[in-house]
Amino acid sequence: MSWSERISNALEERHAASAFRQRQANAGGNGRWLEQNGQRYLNFSGNDYLGLSQHPALIAAWQQGAARYGVGSGGSGHVTGFSTVHQQFEQQLADWQGYSRALLFISGFAANQAVLAAMMQADDRILADKLSHASLLEAAVQSPAQLRRFAHNQPQALARLLEKPLTGETLTVTEGVFSMDGDTAPLNDLHNLARKHGSWLLVDDAHGIGVVGEQGRGSCWQQGVKPELLVLTFGKAFGCSGAAVLCDEATADYLLQFARHLIYSTAMPAAQVCALQAALTCIQQGDDLRDKLAANIARFKTGGRQLGLALTPSTSAIQPVMIGENQAALDVAQRLREQQLWVSAIRPPTVPPGSARLRLTLTAAHQPEDIDILLESLNGCSYRVSE
Ligand SMILES: *Cc1c(COP(=O)(O)O)cnc(C)c1O
Repeated sequence: MSWSERISNALEERHAASAFRQRQANAGGNGRWLEQNGQRYLNFSGNDYLGLSQHPALIAAWQQGAARYGVGSGGSGHVTGFSTVHQQFEQQLADWQGYSRALLFISGFAANQAVLAAMMQADDRILADKLSHASLLEAAVQSPAQLRRFAHNQPQALARLLEKPLTGETLTVTEGVFSMDGDTAPLNDLHNLARKHGSWLLVDDAHGIGVVGEQGRGSCWQQGVKPELLVLTFGKAFGCSGAAVLCDEATADYLLQFARHLIYSTAMPAAQVCALQAALTCIQQGDDLRDKLAANIARFKTGGRQLGLALTPSTSAIQPVMIGENQAALDVAQRLREQQLWVSAIRPPTVPPGSARLRLTLTAAHQPEDIDILLESLNGCSYRVSE
């Protein structure tokens, strides 16, 4: 088979499974509204849970940062890319979360890949929740360690895996709020079990940080759990991009030696760090935003229940509506789009086979009437609900 045959066969397969992915360029606005081809849509697809991506304080901080520090960091953090602004922000994050150290990464994907690649060795094992994000599972597959996945949010299933003897080290991996289901991990139980067996726990709180817990400190803080490794990402409620890994002193020094995504990659621009500092302040003082988001979630769930929509138990900003078949999910998303609502159909392999869904996200930028419009339109779409 030639390269071109291989590529066209793979594309054919994707088309046949209604799984072909395409990007659609939007012309501006990533908050409450999206604009495409001159048409405005109410946006129920983003992860900008607090609406911070459009916040004047973040925009001003980024602009002022660029004026002062330029737009590029000029190199890896190990050369000249690490500035006093980076240093200060890492300390702010560590203090905020009650850790000794925080290390900035260019993205959550890079952070997860880097940590697993740097930590795991051949005799080790990774025990990961089945629904963990692709950045974690793919890194786990690539690592020399053994990967075992445990049933979603089931500590008993983790316990059975932890009991199997091993010569190396075990890392237990989960998320705070799950990206596709919007439910929350039982972090206390998972951490207690992990500790009992000498395993460390890594929590990726991409969807909890900024949104839950006192001052938006996230899922771990909310549940009173301090995992050995905490991954925060800044592409969601922080309204920006980037990530941080929180850990103890020695682990941070270890990652600085062995995390190749840090060593061989240009550091985040200082101007972006300035925007992230502004985002952190907004989040710390953001009870009004979190209240607004909570009111929107409550309005959606109450209204959805009254209409008899197939909602899940999720109480987070992520509200899936399960459809089942890929094509059916695409059809419903298309019908909503015709009514100026931007909603994503999420299909395998992002979610398990047969569980194609609408992944609705609510934010603090939505107005109550936006939620009502969404509910009415969903009610008007007849979709087949999978069991
Ligand atoms: C979005 C996401 C990531 C990736 O973060 P980026 O900063 O977008 O690369 C990692 N983990 C989870 C759970 C996510 O939802």
